[in-house]
Amino acid sequence: MKHTPQVRTSKPTRAEMKTQLLAQAEATIDQFLDWVEQTEHPNLTQIEEAVLEFRRQVGQTMADTALKAQATVHPVPSPRCPTCQREMHFKDTKAKTLTSRVSDLKLKRSYYYCVHCQQGLFPPRPTITGL
Ligand SMILES: [Zn+2]
Repeated sequence: MKHTPQVRTSKPTRAEMKTQLLAQAEATIDQFLDWVEQTEHPNLTQIEEAVLEFRRQVGQTMADTALKAQATVHPVPSPRCPTCQREMHFKDTKAKTLTSRVSDLKLKRSYYYCVHCQQGLFPPRPTITGL
């Protein structure tokens, strides 16, 4: 299996991201309105819980969107092996779950491999700090 590194693959456009965010927001709003209609005399705790859930869902979609806009960037040329300085081969993307203040976020990181030293590397991601 051979991968050709590319500068960017399948990066969503602004219009695509907006469509997705609006669709998710609309679904979440519908759920919220269902709850409003079905809950006749909610107490403050129930209202808080409903609003927090609404906020969580919208926030999750926004965080996923921000990550997807970053996730498919492969450095060109590939990074150098820290041991032998040869160019490493793009091997695969590996899923990683990150716990954030918003929610658990699933992201894909590019994985590079040096056939000479038989060692792998996740290059740092310059576009998102702290990862
Ligand atoms: Zn090496």
